[in-house]
Amino acid sequence: AAAAMVKETIRVYARVKPLGRRQQAGSYSVDNEEPLPSLEITVPRDLADGFINNKRESYKFKFQKIFDQEAKQEVIFDNIAKPVAECVLAGYNGTIFAYGQTGSGKTFTITGGAERYSDRGIIPRTLSYIFDQLQKDSSKVYTTHVSYLEIYNECGYDLLDPRHEASRMEDLPKVTIMEDSDQNIHLKNLSLQQATNEEEALNLLFLGDTNRMIAETPMNQASSRSHCIFTIHISSKEPGSATIRRSKLHLVDLAGSERVAKTGIGGHLLTEAKYINLSLHYLEQVIIALAEKNRSHIPYRNSMMTSVLRDSLGGNCMTTMIAMLAVDKRNIDESISTCRFAQRVALIKNEAVLNEEIDPRLMIVQLKKEIQDLKDELALVTGKQRTSELSQEELLQLDELIETFLKDNDPDGSLDVGADMRKIKYCFIHMKQIINHPMTPDKKLLSQDISEEKNSNEELEKLKGLLQQRDNEINILVTMLKKEKKKARDALSRLNATSADSTVLEQSPSMSLEESRSPSRCFSLKEAKVFSSSVPRLSFLPRATGGKMSLGCQEAFEVFKRDHADSITIEDNKQLLKQRFDEAKCLGEKLNEVRNKINHLKGKIIQRQIQRAALAVSNPSEEVTFDPVEENLRMQIEEEKKSYKTVYSHFKGLKVEIEHLQLLMEKVKMKLQKDFEVWWSEEAKKFQQEKPEMATSPNTVTVYPQFIRSSQHLSPNSFPDNSRDSPYEDPAVKNISVTSGNPTLKTRTPPNSSTSIPLTGDSQADADILAFIKARQNILQKKGKPCQ
Ligand code: ADP
Ligand code: MG
Repeated sequence: AAAAMVKETIRVYARVKPLGRRQQAGSYSVDNEEPLPSLEITVPRDLADGFINNKRESYKFKFQKIFDQEAKQEVIFDNIAKPVAECVLAGYNGTIFAYGQTGSGKTFTITGGAERYSDRGIIPRTLSYIFDQLQKDSSKVYTTHVSYLEIYNECGYDLLDPRHEASRMEDLPKVTIMEDSDQNIHLKNLSLQQATNEEEALNLLFLGDTNRMIAETPMNQASSRSHCIFTIHISSKEPGSATIRRSKLHLVDLAGSERVAKTGIGGHLLTEAKYINLSLHYLEQVIIALAEKNRSHIPYRNSMMTSVLRDSLGGNCMTTMIAMLAVDKRNIDESISTCRFAQRVALIKNEAVLNEEIDPRLMIVQLKKEIQDLKDELALVTGKQRTSELSQEELLQLDELIETFLKDNDPDGSLDVGADMRKIKYCFIHMKQIINHPMTPDKKLLSQDISEEKNSNEELEKLKGLLQQRDNEINILVTMLKKEKKKARDALSRLNATSADSTVLEQSPSMSLEESRSPSRCFSLKEAKVFSSSVPRLSFLPRATGGKMSLGCQEAFEVFKRDHADSITIEDNKQLLKQRFDEAKCLGEKLNEVRNKINHLKGKIIQRQIQRAALAVSNPSEEVTFDPVEENLRMQIEEEKKSYKTVYSHFKGLKVEIEHLQLLMEKVKMKLQKDFEVWWSEEAKKFQQEKPEMATSPNTVTVYPQFIRSSQHLSPNSFPDNSRDSPYEDPAVKNISVTSGNPTLKTRTPPNSSTSIPLTGDSQADADILAFIKARQNILQKKGKPCQ
């Protein structure tokens, strides 16, 4: 088992983010030469005096390797992630975490950029690599699951919880940490989702990222304050073996490591700065403790993140850190902090062990088989099939042997019944009886010559010992199994309990009211799909529906979409996607062509064979020899098969790319949708402020969510212009034309209303209607601008 343990320090890499166009580079240099690559940062003396508070100007940090600005995602994967993925495939735990200030490229490195396929990060590339390897290895049976945990403010959230669709993040059960008696960490309420292939895993990643984005509001930029841990769980087993290997790969996008500088006496900034994120402070404490020799207590329990990553830090894991550096002048001091942290991490030693365990059920099956084999062997050696009971005849024989033995005056005399436990036991019981109830036996004794060979006896003894041992093992395993079953039962009942909870929540009326007020409920993903070219894969994201957007809102969204910067990305990707689709189609046709060719050639061969068979019948003297024509056809088939393979692998690659592009587009679209919601609600709020008298209505608590909702319910009668069927063709639409710059609304006035707007008399509804019209007017104005 010594070979199954790997002792290694945490590997620490650095990646320098490319400078932005308007950013000024700080002074740094990279030396990737052996023995250890180093990164040198030079700080101007005055800055060194102020910020760093010591006289040094130049700082040199050692890394496993440094990736400078131009390093591509593929290179990062090959150098950093691939070796870890290989360990995980071999059964060891692995962790890769990205550390650095907000904006230094952590998410870009771990997950990837939102625009280009080539920008995909470590997670999608690792998934692709792992599933590729698993597919290639048919010697084992593999099972893969993924989980996606977000830790925000010491609370854990399951980003893959299917209930995300119906509830807000805050309403979902929190993920909590539980420790068992062996001090293993278990995460309660974190779901493990099975992913049988790359596509399923990528969908889950996408689902998690989307859930994360939806939960984020502009006020709460969770992504810079939260830690995200995407975990790939792999278990493997050789067919027929009872040993299961389990390993986990954590891919961690940490919260931004930026610090608030502490101000010393006289307004001086001190070197010691405080993390904005407290859990990173605890992470540093753990790392300091681990780097110190002879520290027995490591404060893992201070924060959820350090508890979850306990094995990755100073435990059973192959761990890799990427220090993310921004080297523009304004961020250089944060980068120095990041490098310092990295140097400490590099001192930590981990001991990764192969995670193997025995499956008791399989073990029992195996042991039973072994027992049967041993019994068979025993029968072979003794020449007798053994039953559990001794026969009447054998019993009589034994009685006589015992009597002879008891009467024998020779001190060297022995009772030899052979290597048969049943007989030996019987003798003892019988003698006990004789001693306890002495009687005169009236039976005659028959002496019997028991002459089994000595080595055969030894053999038998050995086999019997083995039998006994196996029996014991089975007993132990059965107990284990019972325990396992109980655990499963417990888990099931816990599960039932939680699902019962959620049903209660769903039925609670106050809950649904809450939901309808949540801004993110204004447009659900499903509604968003109305505006996007529908991508079928999204069907796994079922959101509770709330009807379509109102037409005014729809119109506003169209304008918003047109002006939004992301729409360029969408258009670009659409073009690219179309191109890829065309390519794929082309390849598909080519594949068909080749397949037809092969079939055609096969047909020809068969024809040829029939011809030759016929020839042989009519001309039997002629010997059946090698047919060059057939051989030629076969060679042609081989050629075609080769080209089929090349085209097919190309086709498969395209498929992955297309799927990725689709996901990227969905993501950008969703973001657009969210930005629109925010903008729309702000418009509504502005209006609210302009007309404060409306807010005095006791019913108006939060105006904007209801306002969008109720605008969907405006009846066509009160708004004849807003016919749902074809807003752009209906000439009546133009009647709501608004004189730009003039806030007065001119709509067709219903006769029963004294104002120009068809009001209902209900203050809430009227507030909504007015807000709606005002927002619509703003849009129309905005829309009109480019034409003027
Ligand atoms: P963090 O997650 O650390 O806050 P991000 O990954 O969100 O930082 O990066 C900030 C911005 O910089 C993003 O727009 C991202 O696309 C871009 N970016 C980061 N690293 C790179 C890189 N190596 N190449 C190109 N763009 C990058
Ligand atoms: Mg980020």
